[in-house]
Amino acid sequence: MMGKGLIVQKFGGSSVANPERIQNVAKRVVGYKKQGYDVVVVVSALGDTTDELIELANQINTEPSEREMDMLLSTGEQISVALLAMAIHKLGLEAISFTGLQVGILTDTSHTRARILKIDTVRIKKELKSGNIVIVAGFQGVNTNHDITTLGRGGSDLTAVALAKELKADECEIYTDVEGIYTTDPRIEPKAKKIKEITYDEMLEMASLGAQVMQARSIEVAKKFDVPIHVRSSLSPNTGTMIIREVKRMEEVVVSGITLNKNEAKITVCDLPDKPGVAAKIFKELSEGGVSVDMIVQNVSHTRKTDISFTIAKTESPRAMKIMKKVKDELGAGEILQDDDIARVAIVGVGMKSHPGVAAKMFEILANQKINIEMISTSDISISCIIKKKTVEAAVKALHLEFGLEK
Ligand code: ASP
Ligand code: MG
Repeated sequence: MMGKGLIVQKFGGSSVANPERIQNVAKRVVGYKKQGYDVVVVVSALGDTTDELIELANQINTEPSEREMDMLLSTGEQISVALLAMAIHKLGLEAISFTGLQVGILTDTSHTRARILKIDTVRIKKELKSGNIVIVAGFQGVNTNHDITTLGRGGSDLTAVALAKELKADECEIYTDVEGIYTTDPRIEPKAKKIKEITYDEMLEMASLGAQVMQARSIEVAKKFDVPIHVRSSLSPNTGTMIIREVKRMEEVVVSGITLNKNEAKITVCDLPDKPGVAAKIFKELSEGGVSVDMIVQNVSHTRKTDISFTIAKTESPRAMKIMKKVKDELGAGEILQDDDIARVAIVGVGMKSHPGVAAKMFEILANQKINIEMISTSDISISCIIKKKTVEAAVKALHLEFGLEK
């Protein structure tokens, strides 16, 4: 039979959470193989395995070595690939599973967030040629010292996109337990709609602002090499969302999606002297302490004193507070305030570039809900506001309605 082409399919943790789901994935994969496709399958660890392994490590040592974390976490994917191969064998087809090392996914040496340097596809091509379905452990590679590395949380997406690029796949499908990308989180706004097509830039923005469908880094790579991605459900035959370079919309859409993120915290350093070097000192100390900062706001000073507020991941707020208290006197600062009770709501859309007044409209919608905005930040295709956590659901609903996303 003439080959129909090559398809790379990635199945996330929830699609392989238990034996029944693994068998379901096997059936799906076999279906494509029987239609004449060559299939490369990338899988994540079963269900919440990765979180459980992290928890286990923390019970042994709260500051585990990153090399050993990679050694530990990579085992999750090794379980899934073997089980999926067995499930496919049971259906009578040939399949072979591999670790990242075995299929030559070479990375740099930065453990827990390694970057892919190159992929040697010889073995995969050979196995495809001999009729195998090739199953690759997602999220992992091997570095130049032959140590196992991982590609950051959600890294199986990156494995899939990188393989699709290197193998010049005809399709790259990312399977999850939802039907695609939605205009907002359907658990908060049941009227959320599945988006048919979205651009890399919008998806990237949505991923980094809190939509947890795909790893942001994987979308960066897809954009760089123009790999179209189809995000769809492993539990339904429906088409999902295409992530592509440019979307031709009949009528210009200003806002494509609304994201929310409740995992951030805000820290305010009060009464700082308004002089050169103060901001530099704060953010240098934080970065040296391994805290990555998200939004930053500094007030205009009228009194030679000013406040600086910034947001960080909530899990990093104890560490950030410790650092700030340490440098407080050196900075000549007043109080340091911590607020974990915040959330970020953001609107995203490439159409914003050509439409004035979007920010004003967003602020007005929030004002009509009597929601106070604590911080604002913008990019050319998004506007984010920090608001009180308890108001975020009302904010999402109002923005979804007023920007016409229910249609
Ligand atoms: N299992 C890894 C994680 O949970 C990688 C992935 O799921 O893509 O982050
Ligand atoms: Mg996962």
